[in-house]
Amino acid sequence: MKLDTKVVRASTKPDKTTGAVVPPIYQTATYVLEEVGVDKGFDYTRAANPSRQLLEEHLAEIEGANYGICFSSGMAAVDSVLKMLKSGDHVICSDDVYGGVSRHFNNILVHYGIEFTYVNTSNPDEVTSALKKNTKLLWVETPTNPLLKITDLNAMNKIAKSNNLLFGVDATFSTPIFLRPLEFGADIVMHSTTKYLSGHNQIIGGSIHTNDKDIYDKMKFVQKTIGAVPSPFDCFLTMLGLRTLHLRMQRHNENAIQVADFLENHPKVSRVAYPGLKSDPGHSIAKEQMLGFSGMISFELSGGIPSGKHLMNNVKLCLLAESLGAVETMITHPATMTHAEVPVEERHARGLTDGLVRLSVGIEDETDIIEDLDQALKNA
Ligand SMILES: *Cc1c(COP(=O)(O)O)cnc(C)c1O
Repeated sequence: MKLDTKVVRASTKPDKTTGAVVPPIYQTATYVLEEVGVDKGFDYTRAANPSRQLLEEHLAEIEGANYGICFSSGMAAVDSVLKMLKSGDHVICSDDVYGGVSRHFNNILVHYGIEFTYVNTSNPDEVTSALKKNTKLLWVETPTNPLLKITDLNAMNKIAKSNNLLFGVDATFSTPIFLRPLEFGADIVMHSTTKYLSGHNQIIGGSIHTNDKDIYDKMKFVQKTIGAVPSPFDCFLTMLGLRTLHLRMQRHNENAIQVADFLENHPKVSRVAYPGLKSDPGHSIAKEQMLGFSGMISFELSGGIPSGKHLMNNVKLCLLAESLGAVETMITHPATMTHAEVPVEERHARGLTDGLVRLSVGIEDETDIIEDLDQALKNA
């Protein structure tokens, strides 16, 4: 079965009792046993639920993975991966990682004795230099949020394998339509299903995928034990959104190429980061390892904070909102929104300048998106 067919049809068989094309929502906490010790594979929804299981199987099939596990959020998925480590273990992590991930590592997990080193994973030498005796996990995000840096997964896999590291990839921005990290040797791929996979700003969720039975068993145990599980209704909504993933990603990609091109030629814009642009430092690796460049763009306004504020306050079609990966175009100003709490010096050192704008290009007509940005940039 081709990927597009899998996206639409995989593991969604008509309901056995009624023939319903859309599977029912199994909104239940518990299940009646046939007799002591005999159940139909379900005993309590924290451990397993048919709506969740369908989604897990569907996502695994799209990812080309043996296993899938769904969580109540992307952060719960990341946390559950880290729960496979022990106090005294060391993690090497992409420096431009999603803000919620570094906040979790630096404010919670450090208190449990886990150590973190952040490096630019676009440069494999920096990863090698950060290795320690107790390094257990290499955690890579590609493209990164918000600077869209690209990491060479083949290079990371070599380092991970020769140093016996668990290799995890947060592929939220690329989705399995454009990148399947397990094919590059990753042990674990993680998604915030809140974003492109569900695609309609309708749920918060996360997933992890692996081909390794041992990792699956460990993570399934964590999921069942801590109970960071998505509701059956959220699984149902995610599954409905997922069925158009391939179409949406194609349009996100096409629109983003047009918008990035417009921005690159706009006089108020000093720099555009989009892996689909030939001028982007990540372009050649992205072209090699991805089947498309996805729909996220970040760009820099020469006028700093006032220009950013002007743009944010004058867009009409683009939604001034956090989050990304949905059908609607959304615009964010990291300096005053997502990263306002990060001290200025640290923000600037990380390349999150005052004029930086992040755009999640939606699937509207691209001329409307460009027209909206154009009018809002007039006095920025
Ligand atoms: C949103 C996001 C997360 C966190 O996911 P939630 O569903 O918001 O908990 C992690 N990584 C990346 C790259 C994200 O964009």
